[in-house]
Amino acid sequence: MLIDLRSDTVTRPTPGMKEAMFTAPVGDDVFGEDPTVNALEEKIAKLFGMEAALYCPSGTMTNQIAIRLHTRIQTEVICHQHSHIYLYEGGGIMANSLASVKLLDGNLGKITASQIAEAINPDDVHAAETTLVSLENTMNKGGGSIYILDEIKPIRTLCREKGIKLHLDGARLFNALVETGESPADWGAQFDTISICLSKGLGCPVGSVLLGSKADIKRARKVRKVFGGGMRQAGFLAAAGIYALDHQVDRLKEDHARARALGKMLEALPSVSEVFPVATNIVIARLEGISPESFMQKLAEKEIKSVKFGPDLVRFVTHHDFGDEQLEEFGRRITTI
Ligand SMILES: *Cc1c(COP(=O)(O)O)cnc(C)c1O
Repeated sequence: MLIDLRSDTVTRPTPGMKEAMFTAPVGDDVFGEDPTVNALEEKIAKLFGMEAALYCPSGTMTNQIAIRLHTRIQTEVICHQHSHIYLYEGGGIMANSLASVKLLDGNLGKITASQIAEAINPDDVHAAETTLVSLENTMNKGGGSIYILDEIKPIRTLCREKGIKLHLDGARLFNALVETGESPADWGAQFDTISICLSKGLGCPVGSVLLGSKADIKRARKVRKVFGGGMRQAGFLAAAGIYALDHQVDRLKEDHARARALGKMLEALPSVSEVFPVATNIVIARLEGISPESFMQKLAEKEIKSVKFGPDLVRFVTHHDFGDEQLEEFGRRITTI
């Protein structure tokens, strides 16, 4: 049995999800005529109390569209130095939007209003104009760390005062919400745009959504077209998203419980010096006396897959296809590492 913990993107659709996909009514979404895509967009926009949503092939696309909406040439984005939008989207801030970026440091991948206040450029001929702050929740590189609303509100207030847009890379926002119990609508009220992945913990084969105002989503539709993301009978895919929202949100808590258990198992290994605090479904282990490559090779020999996450870090992500049986098996296999 292969135990694949490289990411929560490796899941396969469940029988119920496949059934929903096969039977979805569809039309041409570039003409705005796919009833299932429209239903998904309406459903998730309503859940977050936002005006509109746009279904896209990937979270990279929804983030990059948001950046395009909120920047222009000679403007600047503020984000954490380990943000997905900066590290893992192919230099898209520059390539797609010709914008500059200012990177901040922060505990477990999180940044604060006072740090942001200092990083906003002055109205000065020398400086790029700061037009966007982008946050990530949960924070992948912070070990799946969570922002709570009370940390967001001062950032929102600051951005409003300064006329700066606020975007959330909420690829794993539902992982945060099931832990804190905070409501999607309260989160929707804090941001100009939110990107959410359906193909991570929610278990869909494809898809992300961008949430925002009617005006922003109308512009986003045009940007999606030029990025090559206008799809036709996309309802077959969107149906998986509707199914996931109805059936696969609450179960994220199980992934978190298994991640905590997995973190304890790793902590017990002599080659692991530290495990980042496990807040959701991501477990990052710091190694000592062994390189990530050698450690991962030992795991691979036992049919366990993980990813390197830094010079001495390895990441494991729990997901829908990693159940109690896989967790126990993981525990058995790693005792001999
Ligand atoms: C996965 C992910 C994305 C989007 O990735 P895609 O693979 O393009 O869907 C964005 N942000 C974070 C934090 C992610 O983990």
